[in-house]
Amino acid sequence: MSADLPEWYREGYDNIWLPYTQMKTAPDALPVVGTDGVYLELADGRRLLDGIASWWTACHGYNHPGMKEKMKAQIDRMSHVMLGGLVHEGALDLSRRLAGLLPGDLNHVFFSESGSVSVEIALKMAVQFWLNQGIEGRARFVGFKAGYHGDTSAAMSVGDSDDGMHKAFGGYLQQQYIRTLPQSDEDLAELKQFLRENKDSIAGVIMEPLIQGAGGMKFHEAEILGGIAEACRKADVLFILDEIFTGFGRTGTMFACEQAEVVPDIICLGKALTAGTVAMAATVATDRVYEAFLSDDPEKAFMHGPTYMANPLACAAANASLDIFEEEDVLDRVKKIEGHLTQSFAQFRDKPGVVDVRVKGAVAVIQLERIEDTAKLREEFVREGVWIRPLGDVIYVTPALSIESAEISALTEAIDNVLNRSSWNDSNQ
Ligand SMILES: *Cc1c(COP(=O)(O)O)cnc(C)c1O
Repeated sequence: MSADLPEWYREGYDNIWLPYTQMKTAPDALPVVGTDGVYLELADGRRLLDGIASWWTACHGYNHPGMKEKMKAQIDRMSHVMLGGLVHEGALDLSRRLAGLLPGDLNHVFFSESGSVSVEIALKMAVQFWLNQGIEGRARFVGFKAGYHGDTSAAMSVGDSDDGMHKAFGGYLQQQYIRTLPQSDEDLAELKQFLRENKDSIAGVIMEPLIQGAGGMKFHEAEILGGIAEACRKADVLFILDEIFTGFGRTGTMFACEQAEVVPDIICLGKALTAGTVAMAATVATDRVYEAFLSDDPEKAFMHGPTYMANPLACAAANASLDIFEEEDVLDRVKKIEGHLTQSFAQFRDKPGVVDVRVKGAVAVIQLERIEDTAKLREEFVREGVWIRPLGDVIYVTPALSIESAEISALTEAIDNVLNRSSWNDSNQ
């Protein structure tokens, strides 16, 4: 380990276990000492332009003054208080605001600390929804290939069963119905039939609307989303949308489901909910789902309660982020970002090894035939001064929604430089 790395790095590195990382062979992680706007500041003074906004969280960029001011004020008042038997202003304000922003009657907000947990909660809610009405046996879910819903067990079980992240756990996970995402009317008719035939064992269908994120940044049309929603309605199975990636402006509307005019029974929110500051997620249910839990029987209550649920500091962050959505025309900026990305990514279509280029909202994707070594490719991007994490066979950017035009150009130029140097994909030649 290099001697010019900071002391905290040299002394602590052996004690940390990093995500999705082969600790024996992976290149050492980069020491970050600060963030600023769309930049990461490294210990050696370098600044990297962040193309992925810290796993799609930092929607307003880092260190936004409005976020900082309101979070600091909240720390002075109260960082945390349990939600069991107690409530606080931030949680109620945030619940009311989310219910107002979400389409239809998604009115009942259940908080948690991570996206995966919000998915676990959605699944449990769906199972208990049927049980509370005296309907037994509806405890399985339909999920889709290339779907990703998190790393906890039930969340893994409804995601793509063959993806590299979850393959090892097949024997441990609950069996679900994992199907190919419909692409045509014919596929939709097949799904409809499948739901009709198996509805007695199905609690619900879960999917990511418009973009399957971690499973490869795969897009589908609003009509497909609408068709799946319709199939669920016809078969009377619950429709669960995981907007942990797509929510909060990422696809051009506040929530992706708006583009298909679809209202799910349950929606999961996370990631950009607190604009990349502190951990928080939410599972929001419609009146119909919520009402199935109202009873004189205490056992029909929803049996879940994360320790840090509705953490006041996280609520303050989420409320501050919603203030920014109101004060700054963020969605209008996404339109401009989409235009810029569409125009500048078009040039990549003709590069060797490029299979597809696609843009939706502030998500731009270059699909390659394959990427031999994503870590090596990542290092090439760092050399160009940008932080981009290729995923499977795609290079993608999901920048902060506050990114300036010149910064988008810098990102694009860095990608162009790397694609022109094919050395990172040598064994592909
Ligand atoms: C990131 C993500 C999750 C998991 O969220 P965590 O906060 O990492 O647990 C679930 N679903 C989707 C669509 C995601 O993008």
